Amino acid sequence: MPDGTPPRVTRTLTSPRALQAAGLLPAAALPGAEAVAARYSIAVTPAVAALIDPADPADPIARQYIPDAAELLTAPHELDDPTADGPFTPVKGVVHRYPDRALLKPLLACPVYCRFCFRREAVGPDGGLLTEPELEAALDWFAATPAVREAILTGGDPLMLSPRRLAAMLGRLAALPQIEILRIHSRVPVAAPGLVTPALAAALETAKPLYLCVHANHAREFTAEAAGALARLARAGVVLLGQSVLLRGVNDSAEALEALFRAMLRARVKPYYLHQLDPAPGTARFAVPVEEGRALLRALRGRVTGLAWPTYVQERPAGGGKVPLGPEWDAKAG
Ligand code: SF4
Repeated sequence: MPDGTPPRVTRTLTSPRALQAAGLLPAAALPGAEAVAARYSIAVTPAVAALIDPADPADPIARQYIPDAAELLTAPHELDDPTADGPFTPVKGVVHRYPDRALLKPLLACPVYCRFCFRREAVGPDGGLLTEPELEAALDWFAATPAVREAILTGGDPLMLSPRRLAAMLGRLAALPQIEILRIHSRVPVAAPGLVTPALAAALETAKPLYLCVHANHAREFTAEAAGALARLARAGVVLLGQSVLLRGVNDSAEALEALFRAMLRARVKPYYLHQLDPAPGTARFAVPVEEGRALLRALRGRVTGLAWPTYVQERPAGGGKVPLGPEWDAKAG
């Protein structure tokens, strides 16, 4: 560009060079980012790129998605599979950790690749789409497991599937008598809201209640386009919940969390979980100690409506499931 302004991003950026050409990665950071790209996937959608302020070296949106050489340093406590999906996988694509619910991971591709992802060793554009026989085996497992009342589609990002495939999968699950509710975890409504077409919204109109957990970590992710996508989903009868990760440099202040939860509610999304960071490799720069997290939530008490209040949770190691982290209150203390 003659004035040095980077071109507007019109397609998803998947390499450090593409990020640099778009003005989202300084030249000095290129070698480190190339080394990260040899190990982990990168994707920044046009919607996300438009949210980044390249002039701000501490931009909270960039921090979530732009690769950093620090990702190659693995701390002693970090684990390849921090939530231990592996030992709880009865058939490929299924994770059964709790008696009454199970995960179905139909694909491992995402619209964006978050630098703090707990499945970062598994997610990526090349792998993870279940073949038809594998999907059949996974659906057969749900059919043969009457204790499971809730099917949770995650991945990867299930809303990356075509509306036709998604509708077929949800239809099969909803038709099982024991399945009472369906749940999907997705970054799509905020990271690629253009994918939430009327056809996709129609695919989510199921016979059983469907809860969609929207993953977002900063108020700026709730753009007018994202709000439009969420409104389309709400009109299709989808119940919208928010899940966030407490992240250093992204939302580690009471002001940032308040703005995030208020933005969720304005977009019809009820804040559901605030996750403590899972110790995936190379994510230490995002860690916020639990006591600090508790103090942040305490600071929000009385400042925001109870509707804005998520449960602060941590995954226990070795697949032990989630535990709430408080903060605790002394009812008599007022
Ligand atoms: S969208 Fe979810 S699964 Fe995909 S990289 Fe981000 S956190 Fe991981």
